[in-house]
Amino acid sequence: MRIWDTIAKKFATFVERKDFMKVVTTTDALRKARASLDGSVGFVPTMGALHAGHLSLIRRAAEENDCVVVSIFVNPTQFLEGEDLDAYPRREEADIAICDKAGVDVVFMPTIAQMYEADELAVSAPAKRGYILEGAKRPGHFDGMLQIVMKLLNLTKPTRAYFGKKDAQQLALVTQMVRTYFLDTQIVPCDIVRDEKGLALSSRNAYLNEEEKERALALSRALRLASERIVSGERNARRIEAVMYEVLEETDKIEYAVAVDRDFRAIEEIEIGNTILLVAAWVGKTRLIDNVWV
Ligand code: AMP
Repeated sequence: MRIWDTIAKKFATFVERKDFMKVVTTTDALRKARASLDGSVGFVPTMGALHAGHLSLIRRAAEENDCVVVSIFVNPTQFLEGEDLDAYPRREEADIAICDKAGVDVVFMPTIAQMYEADELAVSAPAKRGYILEGAKRPGHFDGMLQIVMKLLNLTKPTRAYFGKKDAQQLALVTQMVRTYFLDTQIVPCDIVRDEKGLALSSRNAYLNEEEKERALALSRALRLASERIVSGERNARRIEAVMYEVLEETDKIEYAVAVDRDFRAIEEIEIGNTILLVAAWVGKTRLIDNVWV
């Protein structure tokens, strides 16, 4: 009798455990895998080379949902001519292991041919939010990003989708797209994860050598110094931007250092609770972005 009790108990634990993680590479297989998921689904779209920033999104998705789907796809349409599409770090095996350990249910790793057809119908970013800052520096980037996110949301049909504040404009545009197209997904903003020195984690940090990594700290230092000035009472947006520019002189090329409101409109005065400070700069051959929500 006792032996049967033990076996029954073991079997019960086995049944309670989640099924093993599925790795799917076609849209058909993803649809099938999605159909087999019960309850709420949290979705984390990524371009892979997963780091602790991605992992924080995955963990949050696991906490707040019954199931988690992660996509890993280096989306060609959001890279401009001459950008780092070919050099972008690819670490599929390590990424799968990270997802497995984090309790992900389904990993979607499609080919380009699975995701795109020739001469596609397009989604485009709105003029005001889409064509400033990153949109101005990387024209077409947000159109490509929205195109792929729309496809991924339609395939995955998640209850919630998790996006990092690191890509603040991306987060705002995806939230707007979901509203505009009446998609049934809640977009969840997630805090920026940094290393112990303050550098915002990014797959592109892999391009930096040790000396560049030190100089890359100028981005977070500029934001920190500007935030400190705001805490000490400075409210003039131009003076806050000047503080950031000064620190960013340590980088090789400053693209922008701005204070905008949470709708990405230009501001004269810093308003606590409704401001984002954003910076973009080159260190060596690497373009880095960072921001802080004030
Ligand atoms: P990526 O693979 O760079 O396209 O990023 C996938 C998702 O992870 C996006 O929603 C990013 O905003 C988010 N993400 C990237 N880096 C970080 C970070 N350091 N902290 C929080 N989220 C991040």
